[in-house]
Amino acid sequence: MSDALSRIPVHDVRQVALAALPRSASSPLFERLRGAVGQVAMRAPDAEEGARWHTHTLGGVQRRFAQPITFTPYAAVQPCSARCGFCSENLRKADGSAAASRLRPAPGYFDGLARALHALRGVPLSWSLSGLETSDDADWMLRLLDVLATAEHSGVVVEERVLYSNGAGFAAPRGAQLRDALQAFGLSWLELSRHHPDGAINQAIMRFRPGVAIGEQAVFERTARQLADLVPVRLVCILQRGGVARPADVAAYLRWAQHCGAGTVVFREFSRLDDSYRDNATARYLHAQRVSMDELLAACLDDADVSRGWALDTLTEGYYFWNLRLRTASGLQVVFESADYGAMHQRHASGDVYKLVYFPDGQLCAGWEPGHDVLLDTRNEPVPDHAHHHAHHHA
Ligand code: SF4
Repeated sequence: MSDALSRIPVHDVRQVALAALPRSASSPLFERLRGAVGQVAMRAPDAEEGARWHTHTLGGVQRRFAQPITFTPYAAVQPCSARCGFCSENLRKADGSAAASRLRPAPGYFDGLARALHALRGVPLSWSLSGLETSDDADWMLRLLDVLATAEHSGVVVEERVLYSNGAGFAAPRGAQLRDALQAFGLSWLELSRHHPDGAINQAIMRFRPGVAIGEQAVFERTARQLADLVPVRLVCILQRGGVARPADVAAYLRWAQHCGAGTVVFREFSRLDDSYRDNATARYLHAQRVSMDELLAACLDDADVSRGWALDTLTEGYYFWNLRLRTASGLQVVFESADYGAMHQRHASGDVYKLVYFPDGQLCAGWEPGHDVLLDTRNEPVPDHAHHHAHHHA
């Protein structure tokens, strides 16, 4: 178990008041799981839990940082190699604020990143590398890993290193170089997106652009196995109509995932939106194609053929998500997860810091919206000799 996880208090599920479990308590499945699952991990600290907050002064302001906390250098060098209809990067806020996916990194991007990390020294972080597709630009990805590794060498304490990817760059001409770089970086695990075990169905969902090799089934399977030889791979499947929607689909996906070398499969429900989002094509896709995680999981548990040998493990209560972990008879770890953006926005509006995102425009923010909850604008920060030196030295 990692340091980050071992600091999350694990409660006996029967001793946790339902009021303390806002997300899962609203799930009709919860009562049922409650009897079957041994423990509940509380991922979001309560306001009073002193040990789970880290106080740190950033940009001259003293703030509380939730522990554990993830730092995302938002990848946005170019449009993603895929075009998933549900892509949350294409959701827009009704208030018309700027979208992160439209920003492209300024020339000083990596210097600013080094400065932001320097300013955060003392706050234990975990790398959560996401945004658009990080691996689509090999040079950018290698430079990113280099700046992050340099920050670690100069004193930033990092607990977990996770990359979210559709895999495209790892099957491109410089794929071998990128795969090796991931291993050298000490990646904790790779979350690799693939939404159906059948290549044609997956392509109908992800719509990789013409010429993107990973779109092909054989290429994906080979690449996934190559990656799994180097780093732990978690295959991520977003539940949806036309994709994985029924217990038989779940069973087929799990068999295929093991063939691809994955140790873990994550089935994730479309995030639930609050009314702060504009009614665009993405929001309509989420509405029309939604498959309920609760209902699918309940149907799997009711289907003896699908759930034979499953051992239910842990319920985790995150600050805007909850999940159930189980293990199959063949040793695959499976996670069923749902997330609520309304709950996420409430947390982000609380004044405490639950999430760190560094955007291409050089701002470090406490959430996913550029220009909102700005903690530090690296364009106005003096350059610390140290960070500056290292960023260039390793470039
Ligand atoms: S692979 Fe990820 S970033 Fe790319 S379109 Fe699909 S959901 Fe969006």
